[in-house]
Amino acid sequence: MKKSVAGKSRLVELRKIYGPKHVKKTTPIQRVKRKFGVGARRCSLCGSYGSHIRTYGLNLCRQCFREKAVKLGFKKYG
Ligand SMILES: [Zn+2]
Repeated sequence: MKKSVAGKSRLVELRKIYGPKHVKKTTPIQRVKRKFGVGARRCSLCGSYGSHIRTYGLNLCRQCFREKAVKLGFKKYG
């Protein structure tokens, strides 16, 4: 709640300086959909960005893979 208020006031200040059009384009309030890189790949289950497994088109983070690996047919060696 407090954060959103602070962000709004910042937006208002920026608009005073640059004008409404410029601020609308440059403020990072709207989430950008990434095309490539780490930010483009999220876990399909929990949605986290960290350590990601794309092999075989799994698209899982390592924690979710560890939970689902046995069900998917992976076997632990060693
Ligand atoms: Zn996950």
